[in-house]
Amino acid sequence: MTLADDARPILKQLGVTGSGSLESRSPIDGSVIGSVAPSTDVAGACAAAQAAFRDWRNVPAPRRGELVRLLGEELRAAKEPLARLVTLECGKIVQEGLGEVQEMIDICDFAVGLSRQLYGLTIASERPEHRMMEQWHPLGPVAVITAFNFPVAVWAWNAALALVCGDPVIWKPSEKTPLCAEAVMALARRALTRFGDAPDGLLQCVQGRADVGEALVADQRVALVSATGSTRMGRAVGPVVAGRFARLLLELGGNNAAIVAPSADLTLAERAILFSAAGTAGQRCTTLRRLIVHDSIADELVGRLKTLFAQVRVGDPRDLGTLVGPLIDEQAFDAMRQAAGAAIERVEAVDGGFYVRPALVEVGAQEGRVCEETFAPILYVLRYSDLDEAIDLNNAVSQGLSSSIFTNDLREAERFLSACGSDCGIANVNIGSSGAEIGGAFGGEKETGGGRESGSDSWRAYMRRQTNTINRGNELPLAQGVKFDI
Ligand code: NAD
Repeated sequence: MTLADDARPILKQLGVTGSGSLESRSPIDGSVIGSVAPSTDVAGACAAAQAAFRDWRNVPAPRRGELVRLLGEELRAAKEPLARLVTLECGKIVQEGLGEVQEMIDICDFAVGLSRQLYGLTIASERPEHRMMEQWHPLGPVAVITAFNFPVAVWAWNAALALVCGDPVIWKPSEKTPLCAEAVMALARRALTRFGDAPDGLLQCVQGRADVGEALVADQRVALVSATGSTRMGRAVGPVVAGRFARLLLELGGNNAAIVAPSADLTLAERAILFSAAGTAGQRCTTLRRLIVHDSIADELVGRLKTLFAQVRVGDPRDLGTLVGPLIDEQAFDAMRQAAGAAIERVEAVDGGFYVRPALVEVGAQEGRVCEETFAPILYVLRYSDLDEAIDLNNAVSQGLSSSIFTNDLREAERFLSACGSDCGIANVNIGSSGAEIGGAFGGEKETGGGRESGSDSWRAYMRRQTNTINRGNELPLAQGVKFDI
């Protein structure tokens, strides 16, 4: 049985029909598992989104939340087949595929609650008989550009919030995972049908390569561009969006580190390090790429990790015993070979796929490749003797996404989390760098792009703030005591 035979019933169950010139290849064996038609009318999608916005912005937010509640129900019902499609199309192991769909469900639940909590402030006015307040209004059409490694969840992070905030969404998924996007759109259509009176053009998807994304980013009608992918992509998108004064939310590459201090619980640390470094075959933006270990425990920890890395089951991601599936394609394998050199070990798992054993590479200094994000499972190990030196190493790369410290020393942990500690958007204690929950704001600083998605007050990016001052008196006092009388 070919992978296409595997995919067919899943696609049918998920309601995906149609085909076109954009082929989808499974990283499991490199074979084609389906295809979609690339979009030829991005401008038309933007016009439809703009028309939908005129209606959707007037729908009360809790009612908008009802659509997201229905979407969550559809995702719950389709969790297993959608997760299987994630495994087939992007190569995630079964557990991680299920986890990714669960993350979609979680953000829907979060957004439903949020739909009744889009709070503004009441502000004390300095003028008598005046009142000030701020309101949050819907922003406009949101373009969501996503990467191959989270083919469904990143859309949901954005779409669930955008919908309750009153914004239509146009999705440009990765050209490497178009079928996952088709499946999610089919589920969204089911939710829209049950909802009843949502405007056409509220949820759209434009398939294609970077040129389709470029057209979307440049369109004047798109009020917010939320783009997840490489820093290279962010560098191209950023100036275009800034040039037309639209809003930008960037979630770009990471080069995440963990510090392991002398007091660390090494049994806990080694498990966390293994998951963060090897999970998703090192293809997460939050993947652990640098380990900064205290001299006094480095030999012991490296020894333990070498044993673990050698034992980890690399193979077909559909097998339940597999912990590390394939790299996305040959290009990813070449990039890893260049970065890891002799440390690369290819595993012959399934013909046609690129399977590698996670690599542990000890380095004397943080330079060259260590400072870059290679999207593959390579963990560089550096040593330190003093915590300030370790924090400096953590911060001395151009990316600023996620970071961790393993320590049982409260003062060390607090120092790492303080203003002079980690400079990343995410800083953890005694857990790894990857595997965030949707309740917190997700994103990072510096070349990671500065955007925040998902929990906390990230919803504000999808709305416009309006400050109101209301005079209930008969006088017209001016602010700052300015006199302007005739
Ligand atoms: P990529 O940058 O190659 O592609 C991402 C998306 O951007 C794709 O849909 C692609 O078609 C589109 N794109 C590329 N150039 C464009 C342009 N000029 N204009 C508009 N759209 C364009 O990334 P990838 O290989 O799919 O994903 C891996 C990268 O994504 C890694 O760097 C990873 O760290 C990053 N990532 C970041 C996060 C995060 O939240 N920070 C999450 C997932 C992935």
